[in-house]
Amino acid sequence: MLRQCFELLEYCNGEVMKSLFDVEQAEQFSTSLQMRAYTSRLLGQSDDLVLHGGGNTSVKDVTTDIFGEEVEVLYVKGSGHDLKTIQENGFSPTRLDVLKRLAALSDLSDTDMMRELKMSQLDPTAPAPSVETLLHAIIPFRYVDHTHADSLVAISNTPNGLQFIKEIYGERFLILDYEMPGFLLSKQVHHATKNLDWSNCEAIILLHHGIFTFDDDAQKSYEKMIAVVSKAEDFLKEKGAWDCPLGYDLAGKELQCDAWEIAKMRKYVCLQKGGPLVGRYSADNMASLSSLEIAERGPITPDHVLHTKRIAMICTGDHEKDIQKYAEAYRSYFERNRESDALTCLDTAPRWALWKGKGRFVFAPNGKRLRVISDIIDHTSKCIQWGEFLGGWRALP
Ligand code: ZN
Repeated sequence: MLRQCFELLEYCNGEVMKSLFDVEQAEQFSTSLQMRAYTSRLLGQSDDLVLHGGGNTSVKDVTTDIFGEEVEVLYVKGSGHDLKTIQENGFSPTRLDVLKRLAALSDLSDTDMMRELKMSQLDPTAPAPSVETLLHAIIPFRYVDHTHADSLVAISNTPNGLQFIKEIYGERFLILDYEMPGFLLSKQVHHATKNLDWSNCEAIILLHHGIFTFDDDAQKSYEKMIAVVSKAEDFLKEKGAWDCPLGYDLAGKELQCDAWEIAKMRKYVCLQKGGPLVGRYSADNMASLSSLEIAERGPITPDHVLHTKRIAMICTGDHEKDIQKYAEAYRSYFERNRESDALTCLDTAPRWALWKGKGRFVFAPNGKRLRVISDIIDHTSKCIQWGEFLGGWRALP
């Protein structure tokens, strides 16, 4: 499946964030969990906030267990569910008291944390709780909303990122360094909020990762998220970065690569992967830059490497050589960073590539995965251009 598409302009000159909360529609929902699912779906409507299963939300409530005892429960987004379409059964009911005790531990491996999270469930048939569940338990408000907003993450991925973020948000926001999602992140937030006056905290900003907003009211928590993200978008506009002004754009122009070249490239990528792949060829502003090194600095946030690998392959026209160069670099990156012999290197084929003056290529084992990777790369391309305009795109090492 090789398809040409001209989609980049949708991502530049993009719409700014606005609240989609509809009071009349919200009146249909009588329980806190129904409201939670409703405002979660509103967050899910914007790809600039959450993409393909990213982000998570929760609500705290009280329920009665089989013995007739009252239990404080945290309903948190379950793994495998997407905020765009989530319903009440996409949330996992967990015992809040257990979660709070877990969050206060000084040490816990992520494997043990995930097992304990499953054991804290009130319904074993519910989906597994999100890896970020403990963060939701720590925040003492009924509704907690968490997104990976492009604008905020892009601004923090620049040399002056921290300074910009402080300038945008000021004193009433808790701003924290990047920490890997899992127990270490929850430990960091637990520590930072131990003596926090929550009435003085508008939101939590996690650099290179995302935002947490919270309130006892579902609408307010959701609209705080929109307000926080709007501040970052306004900043991009004030600085002149919003319209991706890096260079000229290729979108809308004749694409320069013929089908034969694309087929040849795909063949070599498939051989490297050791199996069949589908591909997509499209325009990308980045392909018009004088140096494509910008696409070798890293992803928006480390979570994306699961889909896109760390960097793009840069094409020169000698496909066999380009792919070998990419594969060697990937193998040595793995060797440099492996922490134990138990880890196995994944296949060394690229998931996306840039060719100067020609465009962008995405590869995946099937159409569904191709759409996911293409969407992430659309946002990556936009964020890299914003970051570069703000002083230099700089991803986490
Ligand atoms: Zn997150």
